[in-house]
Amino acid sequence: MPDQCPSCGHTWLGDEITVGLLKTGCYSLLTAVEAAAQYGWTPENRKRFNEHVLFIEPMFSRHNFWLCLKCEKFHHWYDGEYVWVPREIVNDILHDDDTLAVSQWLAEHREEQSRET
Ligand SMILES: [Zn+2]
Repeated sequence: MPDQCPSCGHTWLGDEITVGLLKTGCYSLLTAVEAAAQYGWTPENRKRFNEHVLFIEPMFSRHNFWLCLKCEKFHHWYDGEYVWVPREIVNDILHDDDTLAVSQWLAEHREEQSRET
């Protein structure tokens, strides 16, 4: 994924995974490192959590998306291209945690923009 939003430029990089786990208060340094390894974190590849972004995997779509929580715009998962969706659908996701509506809308309106994945 991109490190920042292609539309508004806000960073999507959060804490380094070990730091994020330690902040929960549920881990010692050792168990945080062990748990972080399950996310692919290594001392050489200090992966970070994502922040301010939602990964959207619509049920009826072949395409996945990032929803930036700063500018609330959709972007194609694989190239970051901006995708317009109606405001009420973004609200469904943000306020009701409902991705079914966006799944249906994308299936009806966006699949004609077929692209290689
Ligand atoms: Zn944004």
